[in-house]
Amino acid sequence: MTAARHTLVIGLTGGIGSGKSTVASGFGRLGVPLIDADLIARELVEPGKAALEEIRAVFGPECLTTEGRLDRTWISEKIFADEKLRRQLEAILHPKISKRIKALIADVQAAYCIVVIPLLLETGQQNLVDRILVVDTPENEQIKRVAARDKLSHNAVIRIMDTQATREARLAAADDIIVNDSDLETLTSHIRSLHHRYLELSNGN
Ligand code: ATP
Repeated sequence: MTAARHTLVIGLTGGIGSGKSTVASGFGRLGVPLIDADLIARELVEPGKAALEEIRAVFGPECLTTEGRLDRTWISEKIFADEKLRRQLEAILHPKISKRIKALIADVQAAYCIVVIPLLLETGQQNLVDRILVVDTPENEQIKRVAARDKLSHNAVIRIMDTQATREARLAAADDIIVNDSDLETLTSHIRSLHHRYLELSNGN
């Protein structure tokens, strides 16, 4: 009997606006299965889900919009200002996100898959993945791209970046790095070469 093949799990991470979604879509176009922690987090707090009730119990009814959905702006402001509340929210969400990611990985029928976890290092979820792929972008470029995309001031982007792992910490944890400091064509060619590398690596599994 042959042992079940193990899918190689690549954790894709990077700072805000580094290009994670853009890189993930590039792998998706090559047919690679994608799992997105942010998407899972959103699904988990939909009305009627247990996590939303747990959050309401901690934060009170003000955390809900009049339609009964999680008020993301309100909650972001709360946890930004209060470390204890941030930890409480994480304690509700992270175990559920990890559980869902594991279940989705178990269903993958491909040589490898990409799991996009923006806060992979900050939340200590390295154990979910076999390799860490960091999208690395110079900080001034991150600030410019996010400010343009989200219509935020440079200072607002910098405040968010200050809550995330430093570029150095990310690079130190990386098994692979995509430097996203040039045009989209260059990015696509980096993605292609990594795709071949991951296929080769997964053959060894
Ligand atoms: P977030 O952390 O906010 O989820 P992200 O890391 O997923 O962001 P993207 O949304 O992929 O980053 O990219 C941020 C912005 O920069 C987007 O508007 C995207 O189109 C643009 N962008 C990404 N890479 C490049 C590039 N190489 N050249 C030009 N624009 C780019």
